Amino acid sequence: MPTADPRCHRREFLAWTGAGLLGACATATGATNRRRGDLHVHLFGSGDGGSSCFLGPRIRRSATFALLVRMLGLSEGEGFDRGYVRKLLLAIDGSGLDRVALVGQDGVYDSGGRPDDANTHWRVPAEYVFAVCALRPERLRPCPSINPARADALDELERCHARDARMLKIHPPTQGVDVADRRHAPFFRRCAALDVLVLVHTGHEHSAPVLDIALADPLRLELALASGCRVVACHAGTGRPGDEPDWLPAFVTMLRRHPRLLGDSSVLGTPGRERDLRRLLDDDEVRARLVHGSDYPFPAVPAGFRAELGERRCAELAAERNPLARELALKAALGLEDSQWRAARLLEP
Ligand SMILES: [Zn+2]
Repeated sequence: MPTADPRCHRREFLAWTGAGLLGACATATGATNRRRGDLHVHLFGSGDGGSSCFLGPRIRRSATFALLVRMLGLSEGEGFDRGYVRKLLLAIDGSGLDRVALVGQDGVYDSGGRPDDANTHWRVPAEYVFAVCALRPERLRPCPSINPARADALDELERCHARDARMLKIHPPTQGVDVADRRHAPFFRRCAALDVLVLVHTGHEHSAPVLDIALADPLRLELALASGCRVVACHAGTGRPGDEPDWLPAFVTMLRRHPRLLGDSSVLGTPGRERDLRRLLDDDEVRARLVHGSDYPFPAVPAGFRAELGERRCAELAAERNPLARELALKAALGLEDSQWRAARLLEP
């Protein structure tokens, strides 16, 4: 579509470099598509309501978990499984979001591809992700987690794809899997052939026990990208000030090298990540390759952005009780509204 706006050529280029993920220039400038998506909403469960989820003692005893339970405000006696889903659906229904990726969590596997329960601190099975998505089929999209180190990883990929999963999640530092290991090349080639979007945690992790933080290095995404996958680097390689090493430059390097790589903005509204979010926002090319993610249930705290938004605007944003709506409004105020449209496009059926 011809246009007088020179920025449009840039957007066209970015749309192309995003392998069509970013949509056409007309969509970016016109009013044809203003649906909002969130690519990173966690499903959690304890297994107390038959979910088959698992939350190990190290997570249950953590300060983060205590805070989470208090924040979610689960009712006395309703149980974690049931209460979590009730609160999640309430938040989604009142959020203004059109599409949401519901993210599961696979376990740890040993060198023979067998489940390693001793090192698995948190698990949300694919089956449960599908079951909860079926409660809001018009909005929820399944993003099961598949650890490529499991012996049946390829079969699991086929099973999930047959059930309409168009994306999957890998969490290398907590699943102890090296996505750069050449043994996983057939898995990534199959993801590419099926056009399954691969979400990979990158950067520092503060909410769950980590087996090896070096596995969160964005440079390790090379194999999946070279195998032809579309990849989303969750958290864009970020951390808090003081986290070592600083992986944000590695994420940016990979983004410039690989047109099929995107980053998600999940966790970037939480305390401690403000500095890295600002670094991402300062780079136009990087900002155009971010897709919206909240990392629900971990809440955004607008007060961290007083410097750019002002005291009053931060207070208004903080007054929004719905955590998903607050996340949308905060990121939009910071100039990331188009990342929400990009996320919705990725989540189209
Ligand atoms: Zn997350």
